Amino acid sequence: MSLDLAAAVPALADAVPRPFWTDRPDAPTPCEPLISATNCDLLVIGGGLTGLWAAIEAKSIDPSCDVVLLEGSEIAFGASGRNGGFFSESLSHGVAHGLALWPDELPTLLRLGRENIKEIIEFLSSEGIDAGLRMCGKTAVAVKPHQIDELRAAVALHQEYGESAIMLDADEVRADVDSPTYLAGMRVRSGGGLLDPALLCWGLKRAALARGVRIHEHSPVTGLQPAKPGIAVRTNQATVTARRVLLATNAYPPLLRRLRSRVLPIYDHVLVTEPLTGAQLTAIGWRESQGMTDAGNQFHYYRRTADDRILWGGYDAVYYFGNRTDSDREQRDRSHELLAAQFFQTFPQLTGLRFTHRWAGLIDSTSRFTPVFGTAMGGRLGYAVGFTGLGVGASRFGARTALDLLAGRTTERTELELVRRKPFPFPPEPLRYPLVQFTRAALAREDEAGRRGIWLRTLDRFGIGFNS
Ligand SMILES: Cc1cc2nc3c(=O)[nH]c(=O)nc-3n(C[C@H](O)[C@H](O)[C@H](O)COP(=O)(O)OP(=O)(O)OC[C@H]3O[C@@H](n4cnc5c(N)ncnc54)[C@H](O)[C@@H]3O)c2cc1C
Repeated sequence: MSLDLAAAVPALADAVPRPFWTDRPDAPTPCEPLISATNCDLLVIGGGLTGLWAAIEAKSIDPSCDVVLLEGSEIAFGASGRNGGFFSESLSHGVAHGLALWPDELPTLLRLGRENIKEIIEFLSSEGIDAGLRMCGKTAVAVKPHQIDELRAAVALHQEYGESAIMLDADEVRADVDSPTYLAGMRVRSGGGLLDPALLCWGLKRAALARGVRIHEHSPVTGLQPAKPGIAVRTNQATVTARRVLLATNAYPPLLRRLRSRVLPIYDHVLVTEPLTGAQLTAIGWRESQGMTDAGNQFHYYRRTADDRILWGGYDAVYYFGNRTDSDREQRDRSHELLAAQFFQTFPQLTGLRFTHRWAGLIDSTSRFTPVFGTAMGGRLGYAVGFTGLGVGASRFGARTALDLLAGRTTERTELELVRRKPFPFPPEPLRYPLVQFTRAALAREDEAGRRGIWLRTLDRFGIGFNS
């Protein structure tokens, strides 16, 4: 079926340029900006999931620890409030990727990942945080003939590592969710589900405030420098002197120069539709409302919302020369129109449906698709960045690992090769941009032909991602 870009454009006419999740009247009032100098034991920079979990965990370890959190915009402004809400146990960007990069460590990574999401669920329950979590698993679909065998191999691998996965043929997958593009599917019922990311962030914000964390929003940090007894952190209006600093700024311009070579900011685009009618819902099925993805390198992820809309994102990930992350990049007609056309190609029975929201968010990609952890400034600053599009669950693990490193604690987490070894650095510009485009083209060719070309196989040999 051909892609009709022009026909998709009217469906976007009324879409507001804002993330759906945070665009609601019950959004919490932001905390006051920092306007006067202060001191603290731990300063967390960044009010996404990583920063929020770090603040909460620091208070759980030592309730007397004086914690300040500075967020440049508002809590959930970044990827944490813009994502698909797929809640996954994986710390290794999937089982296959984990097996390729850390074969000996994979059982430990799987166990730690399962413990992590179990503890998140327990925490949400004990705090009374309703983040709309449903442990419904997900379905990956083949939309190209060569992906059928890839899914079969993935089913076997998931089963070998204890996941509940089954293969569905075209009729079976279409009886569940109906699209003429589906050739087969892998239904995984374990390992994760879906949630509402804004409700999660706002619930964690409440939990952090209840523990005495001092949160200041609209307080962008502009610089750091060593100061007795730790680090002086400047905002536009004031300075915080902190014994320790935890950097949780994801793909935004890093305050620590060395992170520029480790994290690539990639814009990922998302659409949300108006609520579906009963007849439209019947036309697609999807009674379990699980998360859906297709199997390529350039893949879509999609899901239903609590009010029966469809969130549809992914595919056209865009890198801008020089790591540019200015906010006018969040609306890209070409990417949103392509997404809209692909939506109607997948669900032609929904022709006429309109989109209400369009946005983009920053994926903090590393060269091996898992975060980079470390310390700097004499061990007084710790960081966990680079979750590469899979941080809704893993950000808590990342925050705890960064706290371990910052405290100089040796734990099972800090001993992992995934933590100790840093991902391969990206080259600086002007080499970075053409290299990223070249790799994207190679990934697209693999999606079309089903064959991994020489460039991607060379990257594989150096342990550089791109094989998930
Ligand atoms: C479109 C999209 C879809 C995704 N879908 C999924 C998914 O379905 N499942 C999944 O597991 N993962 C997904 N991810 C990834 C996931 O959202 C992230 O890995 C996770 O939210 C990272 O959290 P974070 O706190 O590290 O970063 P962020 O949420 O980006 O938070 C960083 C914060 O730091 C603040 N900040 C930056 N610089 C400064 C500064 N100088 N001073 C003060 N504050 C600063 C920013 O304003 C921001 O709020 C997706 C990501 C995107 C973009």
